[in-house]
Order: sequence, then structure tokens, then C-alpha cells
Amino acid sequence: MGTRLPVAQHRVVLLGGGYVTLHAYAGLMRHAGRAVRRGEVQVVVISADDAHSFHGFTGEVLAGLLPYERTRTPLAEAMPHAHVILGRATSVDAEHRVVRYELLDEQSGPRRECTLDYDELVVGTGGREPATAVPGLAEHGFTLRAPGDIAVLTERVRLAAARRGLRRHTVLVAGGGMAGVEMAAAVADLGGARVRVELVHSGDAILPELRDHQPRLARRAEQELQRLGVRVRLGVRLARVTEQHAYLSDGTSLPASTVIATIGQRPVQVPGLEMHRDPRGRLVTRPDLSVVDGVWAAGDAACVVHPTSGEPVPANALWAIKGGEHVGRNLARTLRRRPTRPFAYRGLGQAASFGFGRSVSELYGIPFTGWLAWVLRLTFFLRFMPSRRRAAQVVADFARHAAYGRRPAEPAPSVGDLAAARTA
Ligand SMILES: Cc1cc2nc3c(=O)[nH]c(=O)nc-3n(C[C@H](O)[C@H](O)[C@H](O)COP(=O)(O)OP(=O)(O)OC[C@H]3O[C@@H](n4cnc5c(N)ncnc54)[C@H](O)[C@@H]3O)c2cc1C
Repeated sequence: MGTRLPVAQHRVVLLGGGYVTLHAYAGLMRHAGRAVRRGEVQVVVISADDAHSFHGFTGEVLAGLLPYERTRTPLAEAMPHAHVILGRATSVDAEHRVVRYELLDEQSGPRRECTLDYDELVVGTGGREPATAVPGLAEHGFTLRAPGDIAVLTERVRLAAARRGLRRHTVLVAGGGMAGVEMAAAVADLGGARVRVELVHSGDAILPELRDHQPRLARRAEQELQRLGVRVRLGVRLARVTEQHAYLSDGTSLPASTVIATIGQRPVQVPGLEMHRDPRGRLVTRPDLSVVDGVWAAGDAACVVHPTSGEPVPANALWAIKGGEHVGRNLARTLRRRPTRPFAYRGLGQAASFGFGRSVSELYGIPFTGWLAWVLRLTFFLRFMPSRRRAAQVVADFARHAAYGRRPAEPAPSVGDLAAARTA
């Protein structure tokens, strides 16, 4: 084993450092916190990233409204009673209740394989954009989930916006779902007249997930993109990326030196539970969110069925949070040998932002636009930020923006920082 851990009666291992893990921890602490504090139940987090990324504010970071650090909360700070191991899970042996992982902590020397046994394991490894599906994307594009990518991108767009000369910097965003639309709007908002934004979507209309039941909100989103000068290309895919160009499936080539892909996502699969995956590779959960005895899953890595529609719930933060909370509650019940409860959460809504004070939101089926939508979205995000201090700082950042405008540019990252961020 890589890290010496004290002996405990029960060990709960949480894989990943995202929404599922944080909220499974919170649920467990709420219902069995005393046992954790007394050391009877040990919580171990194995995460490939040592901080939680609050993806919801990615658009605000890209638009220069919030500093990147606001979205990052160190796991040790967010889960003070857990042992956090910086490592990548490499396999799960559910029969013997053992997880294997590779230590990523550089201070522990070269990367090495370790094993850890568990009583209960929660898989919250999330998803990743399929960067290798488009030739050149992994080398020359951005996928936004890699730690550091957002900070690098923001500075790149800032520099392009400040540059003088005739040539405009073109940013191509691939994917017309919520994330793609928000990213395109944010880049256009920050880049202004010096940056041209192209949004490429393979379907015949953007925001399919919203359009189905809120067509008015989808139309409003299109108007916001128009206002920001984003050009939308429908019915085409991103086919190849080079350092200076993006090639589309219809044969068009665009001189884009920055390509951002939000082209759907694939679950991160930790080998060992193959029998329990759906065709998309997600872990199929039982009604109580267990996968097999001793293994639980939620969030983007899982296929969780909606309690009333019977359809898989969407891969977004709300469902990861609520799924994580439920797993935490059921972990506490399992440790007390009580029967578990089925996941019964029915949903709340969705939202997208187009800059300061401009949003579309749907809450329990009711559509909202403009300031009200923006405030609703912000309230929800602040409520679920893992750090109260950072949530307060976000409010202060927005108040400062309202009073003085966009925050000043930060020093551009060094070449070394850029390389490190791209390879992380
Ligand atoms: C740019 C962007 C914007 C978004 N905006 C919104 C939004 O506005 N609203 C919304 O509801 N949703 C949004 N989402 C989606 C939302 O962030 C995800 O649905 C949510 O993060 C899923 O939570 P999770 O816990 O399953 O995974 P994540 O939060 O992605 O966490 C996964 C964790 O697992 C770690 N990990 C991965 N592989 C391993 C491994 N093998 N071993 C150990 N650790 C591993 C990762 O480092 C990470 O810490 C956005 C996503 C992105 C990328």
C-alpha cells in the first residue's frame, strides 16, 4: 500500500474528487459523522486531481468575470475528515473488495502501483470529452476538463482581444449543447471585436436538451449568441484540428488557432466492473445506487435511472450532487446494517449563462430569462459550492464587476505553466 493509514473498523473509499465524491462525503458525515470523527469509519479519497473543479462557473472564468482559482477547492479543505490520496484508480476487484491505484504524488517518488482494501467503494470518476475521437484535438485543442485548461484558454483569449492588427483571432467551439453554447458566449463576451467565434454543431439546431420542452428558452439562447456575434454552423462536425486550422466534416477549413471541444463526453471507466456497464460504458446502478454489493456509483460515470420516467438522468452537476448525497446516506445506513433506500430525487431544472446578468433558466418546468434567470442560476451555484469562503468571494467578484467592470488581466502563464497545464 502506498499510504500508511490508521486501522479502522470500516473503510469507505471514494474514487474521484468531483461532485459525487464531495456530496457522498457530506451525506456520510451528516448521517454517520460521529463514527467518522471517532475513527471507527475511515474515509479515503483517491483522486487524480487534488482539488475539486466547480465546472458550473467555467463560462464566467472564460468571460473574465471570475478568477480561475474561485472554481478550485483543495480536496483536503473540502473533506477535512478524509484521507486524500493523489492517485489514479487503475482497477477494482469487487469480489475481494480491493482497489488498485497509481500514486501521482511526485513527492513519493516515481509513479507506483498501490492497492487498498475497502468495505464500501464509491465510483465518482466522472466523464471526459473523447479528445482522441477527432485527430489533432488532443494535441492542439482544449477540452476544459483537464485541470488548468480553462486558465490557459482565458489568458489566450485575453491576449487575442488586446492584440492590435488587422487579423482577428478565430476561436472555434465544437458542440452546441449547454456547455458549448456557454463557452462560445463567454469567449465572444471576453474577446469582443478582436475575436471571431464559430460554433459548430452536428445537429440541425443547438441546445437539443432544452429545445424539446423549452423552445422559447432555446430561441432566447440563439438570440444571445447573435447579440454576441457568434456564428453558428449547423449539420457539420469537427473532423480534424491542426495548430492553425480546424477542418469540418463538410470539407470547410477555418483558420482557427483555438479550438474548444464540448463534443459530449464518455465515462471514465476504471477496469474491473465490465459486467455492470451499459453500452456507453456507464456503471448501471440499482435503485439504491449500488452497482454490486460494496460498490456504489453516481454522476457522469454512472447510468442512474430517473425514478418516474425510467430514463437515465442527464450527466450534469445537479444529478451528480444529488446522486452523491444519496450514496452517502445509504453508506451510513449500510454501515449501521440498516436497509438502504431507493434514489427518489426528481430533478429541478437547467440553466445557461450568456454574461453578467444574462441567462436562461428552467426551474420545475417554469422558464425564466434575463436577470431573474441569472440570479436563480447564481443562487443555485452558490448554494452548492464546496467552500463558503469561495462562494462569498464569488459574490464579491460580481459586486466588483457591477461597480467597476471586468477584472484586470492576470499575468499570462509562462511557457512552462502552459506545458504543465496541457499535459496534466
Ligand atoms: C466546462 C463544463 C461546464 C459545465 N457546466 C455545467 C453547468 O453549468 N451545470 C451543470 O449542471 N453541469 C455542468 N457541467 C457538467 C458537470 O460538471 C458534470 O456533470 C459533473 O462534474 C459530474 O460530476 P462527477 O462527480 O460525476 O464528475 P467530475 O466532477 O468530473 O469529477 C470526476 C473526478 O474524478 C477524477 N478522476 C477521473 N478518473 C480518475 C481515476 N481513474 N482515478 C481517480 N480519480 C479520477 C477527476 O480528476 C475528477 O476529480 C459542466 C461540465 C464542464 C466540463
